[in-house]
Amino acid sequence: MERVYNFNPGPSTLPLEVLEQAQRELLSYPGTGMSILEMSHRSKPYEAIHQEAEAAIKEMLGLDDAYRVLFLQGGASSQFSMIPMNFLPEGRTADYLVTGSFAEKAWQEAQLIGKTHVAASTKDCNFRRIPAAAEIRLSDNPVYVHLTSNNTIYGTQWREFPDLGDVPVMIDMSSDILSYPVDGKRFALIYAGAQKNLGVAGVTIVAIRQDLLAACPQQLPTMLRYDIHAKNDSLYNTPPGFSVYLANLSLQWLKRQGGPAGIEQHNREKAAMIYAAIDGSGGFYRGHAEKDSRSLMNITFRLPGEELEERFVKEAANAGLVGLKGHRSVGGIRASVYNAMSQDGCRALAEFMLAFQQKNG
Ligand code: PMP
Repeated sequence: MERVYNFNPGPSTLPLEVLEQAQRELLSYPGTGMSILEMSHRSKPYEAIHQEAEAAIKEMLGLDDAYRVLFLQGGASSQFSMIPMNFLPEGRTADYLVTGSFAEKAWQEAQLIGKTHVAASTKDCNFRRIPAAAEIRLSDNPVYVHLTSNNTIYGTQWREFPDLGDVPVMIDMSSDILSYPVDGKRFALIYAGAQKNLGVAGVTIVAIRQDLLAACPQQLPTMLRYDIHAKNDSLYNTPPGFSVYLANLSLQWLKRQGGPAGIEQHNREKAAMIYAAIDGSGGFYRGHAEKDSRSLMNITFRLPGEELEERFVKEAANAGLVGLKGHRSVGGIRASVYNAMSQDGCRALAEFMLAFQQKNG
């Protein structure tokens, strides 16, 4: 079967080159006579992959040796609880910027651990915008601030990060990591599930400033301690080796695209085609996100009526454009156009939108 244009929000489309290389190397990784799937995580070939992936992430996030990159399991969702377990001690408050469902989940998990404060929320408008810097009200002396760079379900994205002074910022970049240049040194901890912009599910990337590791409580269960994972180069237990390998192939692919700066240009052009189809439709397509909060990764919009939306999704799938059904909390359509989605895919979607409107508008 021919490959379709896959707009799923994650797991999501991978670069064809990455899949082809994985296919070539599946039965025998060069020089080893065995598959990565069968290989010890203590072997030299695996170690080289692990280190190459760590180096590529550090380089492309602009991080120096003050940071460590960890490969953890349990998804980005486990970070929602690991962060407060490690860094929210009794007597302190952690601040949360609640800009979408995952941001809210992160905040809810932290409430199970300690005292929290919502420094800003856009829930009252169904998360259709990112709060302005002036709306952010930090608590007195927060131990950290948590924010979500891109809201996967609602299709909003921070364009400029607020200046939060010296407070350590913990950021969930699951749905836009390495899709544009970021000065990673602005953050104390960056995390992301790999299955959107960096490969496949099974591994969660955590970049952490090393000076924070001293705060990890010794009474925490071992697997929940960042300092243990850092001390053991993420090899305290068996890592998800094949997921790290695919993340590394994706990272090396990203470098060939010019890294975050190169891919940003490509991502802007892609998103612009679809937003132009929305904005040029005379109201037939209505974007969920306010214009200045629009995401370059997840594009959300409604049509006039649910019956039309269902038909849109069905006919698009027949035309080879799949994974477009929006999340139930927004409804309508969501096109996820992460790094690996091609310009051709976005052009095909924009053309489909125009044709669908002409037929049904
Ligand atoms: N944060 C964001 C922004 C997400 O989009 C997602 C998943 N869609 C998560 C966290 C949860 O990730 P996981 O499924 O890897 O736990």
